[in-house]
Amino acid sequence: MNIKLPDLPFPQDSLAPHISEKTIQFHYGKHHKAYVDNTIKLITGTDLEEKSVEEIIVISSNNADMVPLFNNAAQVWNHSFYWKSIKPHGGGTPSGPIKDKIDGKFGSYESFVAQFKNTAMSQFGSGWAWLVLKDDSILEITKTPNAATPITSNERPLFTVDVWEHAYYLDYQNKRADYLDVFFEHLINWDFVNSQL
Ligand code: MN
Repeated sequence: MNIKLPDLPFPQDSLAPHISEKTIQFHYGKHHKAYVDNTIKLITGTDLEEKSVEEIIVISSNNADMVPLFNNAAQVWNHSFYWKSIKPHGGGTPSGPIKDKIDGKFGSYESFVAQFKNTAMSQFGSGWAWLVLKDDSILEITKTPNAATPITSNERPLFTVDVWEHAYYLDYQNKRADYLDVFFEHLINWDFVNSQL
């Protein structure tokens, strides 16, 4: 069995006041853990038991008989990637190779953030907003509904923002825009983004 809840890369209270310890206790300790537990239940005793989470996602995607497995396994991967996309005392303007790529594609960091927020705000209901490299070279802002994930396509994710309400409701209620502001001002982990290039 390769599926397990990964360690959180920071202490549960270390994103406060931007993301509260209570949000992390529920988001990581209840929601993410439930996706892990459900995935394990669904593959136990099947020939998928020794597969990686990435393999399980690809095998179950676009398979009408495996929708619950896809939803849970993709949410396992998406959340693990989200935790790496943020850090205590993160945020602010990027440096390193991602800065040049953003300036080249979007003109400026401010224009990039505005476009990213528009995309994240326009995801109706639950889902994810992403910065991806398409075909290994083209920088693009995308969104996916529910559990859908770019790793089933030719897109390589560089970071993600969870825009399910459970990611921000305890701290920001219905104000997704405030959560997105905080994500860019205080949370995004540009070192991780650069390490993905
Ligand atoms: Mn979530």
